[in-house]
Amino acid sequence: MFGKLPSDLTPTEDRPGLRVRGGTKYTTSQGDYVCGSCGAQDRANGDSDVKALVSDYTDNHGPAHRNGR
Ligand SMILES: [Zn+2]
Repeated sequence: MFGKLPSDLTPTEDRPGLRVRGGTKYTTSQGDYVCGSCGAQDRANGDSDVKALVSDYTDNHGPAHRNGR
């Protein structure tokens, strides 16, 4: 299922987590995650979308699952 994605940039179920790359003068910031607990995944481009992605991950996925959510 993940075989066709660029594995260098994309978290996999083997290595779940959140990844964010800051934008530069020439590129927009990028973020993506794979949740190791529920398998959800998402990605975003641009500062505001990446910020929303990080909030979504921290509020609902990853370590948040250990809080019973
Ligand atoms: Zn999750």
